[in-house]
Amino acid sequence: MIILRHDVDNAFSPRGLFPKGLNYLRLKVGRVFPVWDSFGYLRSAQGLFERERSAGIHASWFFRTVTKPTKEFRQNLVKEGHEIGFHADRIINESHFRADLEYVADTLRFAGFTKHGSRGLHTPFGVGLGEVYNLKLYIKRAKESNLTYFCGNDVVPTDAFRNVEGVSLFPSVFWVSPGYMEDSKFTVDWLIDYQRDHDVVVLIHPEDADGLFPKVAEKVDKVFSLCEEIMGFREYLQLKKVI
Ligand SMILES: [Zn+2]
Repeated sequence: MIILRHDVDNAFSPRGLFPKGLNYLRLKVGRVFPVWDSFGYLRSAQGLFERERSAGIHASWFFRTVTKPTKEFRQNLVKEGHEIGFHADRIINESHFRADLEYVADTLRFAGFTKHGSRGLHTPFGVGLGEVYNLKLYIKRAKESNLTYFCGNDVVPTDAFRNVEGVSLFPSVFWVSPGYMEDSKFTVDWLIDYQRDHDVVVLIHPEDADGLFPKVAEKVDKVFSLCEEIMGFREYLQLKKVI
């Protein structure tokens, strides 16, 4: 079974120089920077959502403060049975973590979170060298904020899921982006075979699916067409009667 995780890192698709500038502005100017649809705000995420809608696939989507979904997108995701969670940049400072979580959650109540970037590990597009990855702290933050689970950035997709102090921990993911896992071992064909009798988290960033990197998009195609059971974290934990 596949548990499908989407981390929405970029406000604008990283194709070309102009969106890169917009992402930079959004990062630097933050929330004040207007969300201009005509510039393609969250266009890659919308594209992936449409694709999953037509395939009948549900996932868990994690948004940063700089990629908070519009009200309309949030409603569409929820209506189609997707889960929305928090993709955290700032965790060390508890009040920052809480404020960011509340800002992204808005009217929703989130069940879990993921961490954007991990210094010492590769980070998407070579950016995001933020806070040092600290699993113990993340479990603590999850407990304090009544979050049910945390999904980590480790790179061994066979790592067992476990319960740590009442928090469901999914320590590792299968990265469709190259350069994170031992790629020669954990190929997409390995995944297709493995998921038949194991549960495994697959991380797909919206840009992985939009064809910018054809080899990565090919992996995404295989996951969508060859894996029979795909669901989000909340749905999975409900199935396992954890929540
Ligand atoms: Zn991220």
